[in-house]
Amino acid sequence: MDVRFWGTRGSLAKPGQSTLRYGGNTSCVEVRAAGTLIVLDCGTGIHGLGQALLATPPPHDGHLLISHTHWDHIQGFPFFAPLFVPGNSWDIYAPGKLGQKLEQTLSGQMEYNYFPVTLEQLGAAIRFHDLGEGRFTIDGVQVTAQYLNHPALALGYRLESGGSAVVYSADHEPHAPNPVARPGEPPTHVEDRRHVDLMADSDLVIHDAQYTIAEYAQKTGWGHTPAEWATDYAVAAGALRLALFHHDPLRDDEALDRLVDTCRERARAAGSDIEVFAAAEGQEIHLAESAVPTGRPDSAPAPSRSPGSQTVLVVDDDPTMVQLLTLTLEPDGFRVVTASDGESALRVAANERPSLVLLDWQMPGADGIEVTRALRNHSDPALRDVPIVLITSQSGEENTAAGFAAGVTDYLTKPFRPAHVRSRVQAWLLRRRGEAPSRP
Ligand SMILES: [Zn+2]
Ligand SMILES: [Zn+2]
Repeated sequence: MDVRFWGTRGSLAKPGQSTLRYGGNTSCVEVRAAGTLIVLDCGTGIHGLGQALLATPPPHDGHLLISHTHWDHIQGFPFFAPLFVPGNSWDIYAPGKLGQKLEQTLSGQMEYNYFPVTLEQLGAAIRFHDLGEGRFTIDGVQVTAQYLNHPALALGYRLESGGSAVVYSADHEPHAPNPVARPGEPPTHVEDRRHVDLMADSDLVIHDAQYTIAEYAQKTGWGHTPAEWATDYAVAAGALRLALFHHDPLRDDEALDRLVDTCRERARAAGSDIEVFAAAEGQEIHLAESAVPTGRPDSAPAPSRSPGSQTVLVVDDDPTMVQLLTLTLEPDGFRVVTASDGESALRVAANERPSLVLLDWQMPGADGIEVTRALRNHSDPALRDVPIVLITSQSGEENTAAGFAAGVTDYLTKPFRPAHVRSRVQAWLLRRRGEAPSRP
């Protein structure tokens, strides 16, 4: 596999003297494997890739995997020249949300007020794919898509070809603070463990490293990883190389050099010989393929699903929290039912059979852990399997472990931001629907 960075910056393009070496364009990575072009994200960096492609003989076909539709990952889309050329063929993939299609989202930034050419006027043949979690193949390249933790529904991608693996995790915040508490051990939080599993034994991890641990205290909930923790993740995964990525617009070249030194020392202290570097615009990496490409036939990506009616049960003795969550979820089309204590939560759950339960841990009477145990032992299989998310201000390791042992699916840690709740609820429900056929 051949990897080339066209944009490495996060949040905002930042060209200029301070970013000459690592680059100012936002997220875009070119991957060539098994004779196929796969482009990861279409931030402003994709403009340069488009020009480079047009300088070669046609056709200029490919696959564009979008992590999520925040501006810094899609702003280059209307400037990607191959999309304008009739005869070219592009497949475009992004996380499919409950309720809105990728095509609508991309056409939104190309409305008349923002851009002079509409999506319909692009000359290439374009196919849109709303993705869920799962595995599929693109021209013999195995793709694994998995949800990231971000204030917009986002997917990380693992690409495998000929025995090599590249993982792209652009915008992701650890689920637990200090996700890998002890070097060499897996994370305690189930979701952080899944994240490490996505990167397991890969040749190259391209990971969000927007902050430092020191900065993170002020940026908790913004959806990004401190570079030191990105290092911990990659070390725990046994990856060979880590490219720190999605550099903060405020981080100049010299500051990035220092951050790389810090992360290299951290990896060495953990006994790892992983190669750590900061992704630089224009940098190319060749990963030797140990096996002959399988040439296996394409399998289809997880199809987008129709939203249907989704009921969310919110349980909290604090009426302000119930109101906040209701106001957050209803605009996305969810039906919200509520309860103010554990006993009534079990009654409402039995009557309403919700698709998701958001459950306060600390309540008078039966607390969140007891309600979780009661649901997990319920006679109704729909309640035994329903995703349960514990709302808590205690995200310490022991508390988390106790919740997971009781059957909790995940945690929502206070204080949280409405955008974060919206994206996590989508991920919990979509993952759920992908795992099991819907019940009658
Ligand atoms: Zn971003
Ligand atoms: Zn983002």
